[in-house]
Amino acid sequence: MKNLALHWKILIGMALGVAFGVLAASMGWNKFVINWIKPFGTIFINLLKLIAMPLIVASLIKGISDLKDISKLSAMGGRTIGIYLMTTVVAVMIGLLIVNIIQPGELIAEETRQELLTNYADNAKAKQEMASDQKNAGPLQALVDIVPSNIFSAAADNGNMLQVIFFVIFFGIGLILVPEEKARPVKAFFDGLNEVVLKLIDLIMLAAPFGVFALLASLIVESPSLSLFKALLGYSVCVLIGLGILIFLVYPTLVRIFTGRGYAFFFKGISPAQLLAFSTSSSAATLPVTMERVQEHLGVEEEVTSFVLPIGATVNMDGTSLYQAVAAVFIAQAFGMDLTLTQQLGIIATATLASIGSAAVPSAGMVMLVIVLGQAGIPEAGLALIFAVDRPLDMCRTVANVTGDATVSMLVAKSIGKLGEPKAKDWDDHYKAA
Ligand code: ASP
Repeated sequence: MKNLALHWKILIGMALGVAFGVLAASMGWNKFVINWIKPFGTIFINLLKLIAMPLIVASLIKGISDLKDISKLSAMGGRTIGIYLMTTVVAVMIGLLIVNIIQPGELIAEETRQELLTNYADNAKAKQEMASDQKNAGPLQALVDIVPSNIFSAAADNGNMLQVIFFVIFFGIGLILVPEEKARPVKAFFDGLNEVVLKLIDLIMLAAPFGVFALLASLIVESPSLSLFKALLGYSVCVLIGLGILIFLVYPTLVRIFTGRGYAFFFKGISPAQLLAFSTSSSAATLPVTMERVQEHLGVEEEVTSFVLPIGATVNMDGTSLYQAVAAVFIAQAFGMDLTLTQQLGIIATATLASIGSAAVPSAGMVMLVIVLGQAGIPEAGLALIFAVDRPLDMCRTVANVTGDATVSMLVAKSIGKLGEPKAKDWDDHYKAA
């Protein structure tokens, strides 16, 4: 057991968590699980979130100051944003294609539709209210939101990662511009801080198998009834096929073509981050592990990971955008609406923007879906239809989000000559040493 690779340990933790959750639900141990098991899952997620901010600050400052001149930064920034946008648009198009071919909305019986709408109407309303704040804002609000007026309140509560990233990049630019002897102690401090934070991640990951056990067991105990899931099978299958195409076909093919790295190499390197994304439903919580995996096991140099991945976790959500496209068309179909080509093209634009705007936390994609629906003229109450299956789909789309970030960081690294050999040869010796 001691020498078992980390991803196996996490998988065993997940399988046992699901098995125990099912057993507990059938035996009526729900309260026990919620009182005595769920807290360990919460602690695990808290630990990951705890480390996220220090990690972004330390590694991004180190990354930028290693760049030495500003032109390198802008070359990397342009490529990063460009490739992120492209992968997101491709993801939305895959989603639209699948949902138009399978047409899952036509499969729902009238009576099931009514049942779903009444069961989840309240929840849907709450999400609509959250989204309406965003809709009322002016066209440049998204830009205004990136620039914080106070760095501590931006960082408080892990509230606004983009604002922190903005500040840190700004700070990093300042650090490149001051004379070297003045910059040296500041840089050394952040280098050291970065090492310490990476070590903390190793320590936290030792608890991952137990963390995912607790998360999955409590998720099963708290999930709604199975009969509703069945009604939504067609829709879920569409989302899952789309995500599967992204994760198992599009990303590895991009990696193969542009970096020459193989399928096994890629998945061996990134799988612990994928498993964690699945268990936590949050790209932000997974970020520390994604960074560590991409750097140590996929061979991307820190200069690139520290810049590309924190930005990716917040703005690049291919899985979420694909899901939003499928969900919007599914709801339209369920209401008997026929979407025109122009409306579907509109969905490509809004789903891309909405996924950029979604926070990297559980269910965020669903909140932003309201905006996609509103834009396409689809009744927002339709959100209630898909509520029951949102969590499992959220878990899967988060895996796609994280895998997409890792892929893009490899492509960017290759394009600027920063893709080397992975530091951890045996892909688990890193954790064994911890
Ligand atoms: N949970 C997703 C993430 O963190 C966002 C979403 O689609 O809800 O990546």
